[in-house]
Amino acid sequence: MADFTDLRRQVRSLDGFTKAAYVEEVQVLRMEAERARRWRRVADPRESWVYISGGDATWAVDRASRVGHHDPVAAVTFPPLHSQLVGWWLFHAWRSIDLVSAGLSAHEHGTTSIAAITSRALIEELGCLVTEVRQIKAAWEVVKRADLNPVRRGELAKNQLGSVLARFLFATRMSSKPANAPDATNVLTYIKKLDKLSKSSKFSEWYDWLSDASHPAYGARLVYVTNPMRHATGAVMLRFHSRSPLHLEKSSGERVDFTYDIEEKAETALESCGTLLIKYLKTALSLVDDFGLTTSAATLTSRTYWRNLLPAASGDECACGCGPWAQSIHVWEGGVQDLPPLNG
Ligand SMILES: [Zn+2]
Repeated sequence: MADFTDLRRQVRSLDGFTKAAYVEEVQVLRMEAERARRWRRVADPRESWVYISGGDATWAVDRASRVGHHDPVAAVTFPPLHSQLVGWWLFHAWRSIDLVSAGLSAHEHGTTSIAAITSRALIEELGCLVTEVRQIKAAWEVVKRADLNPVRRGELAKNQLGSVLARFLFATRMSSKPANAPDATNVLTYIKKLDKLSKSSKFSEWYDWLSDASHPAYGARLVYVTNPMRHATGAVMLRFHSRSPLHLEKSSGERVDFTYDIEEKAETALESCGTLLIKYLKTALSLVDDFGLTTSAATLTSRTYWRNLLPAASGDECACGCGPWAQSIHVWEGGVQDLPPLNG
């Protein structure tokens, strides 16, 4: 059986890090003239609203800080986007923790049928995270590198990151979905992406086996059956059915384990995808923090939330843990964190 000591330690640490995390996600809605008039009538000034208008549209957000009131474009744009990014990241972190923990538990208890289902879901989760983080990075790079005035930069952030995040947060494949809800990406697209980025076919091979084991098909039956052995005469083929994996003990006392293909694929996929997920989550959080610190999102709102880090004085260490603030990348037109490779 595989040794998951390192993965178990990493997932426990991530669980402790995110257990008490929370965020109130804010979506700013475009208001046409009629709706904006209603908002003006109903909005309570004690809720500290700020707003911006352009053409016949208005965007407003409550609970702006004193700094936010001095910069309404930033206050309406950046804290809501940051709240969506933090929520996006927490979804991936909590789902990864749940799936890896369930996978480890299934292996401890020898329930290969459950191990196969969780490892299959882990491959999908990794594919989704890797795909989404690349799109968020690309959108953030466009916004961060643009040499624009604050108003145009706010617009660009809303158009670029806002639309990418809206698709990730609300896309679905349910047949009863509303007509204007975005379509979720086909899961096979994620798997192909993993193969392409890792320059291998291992993700689709694991996925193929584990999908068969997750449905009532041949793969699911293999969980409880040894690989076939041909009788020396060639006349018959034998397979042993048993509740748990079997092993043979030779007269010398030597133990020989039967190999179980599904158990082996589920273990390999758990170790590989679990480790990659935790690595990718760390980089994804660096991107979320870079957005928060470059835009000073947390200074523009009075809402408190997880990762509402504040920019540091130039001689101090950055709150995100990247080192001295003066050397950090959290400046407009600065660089963006690289993503880890999938191969190796
Ligand atoms: Zn930093």
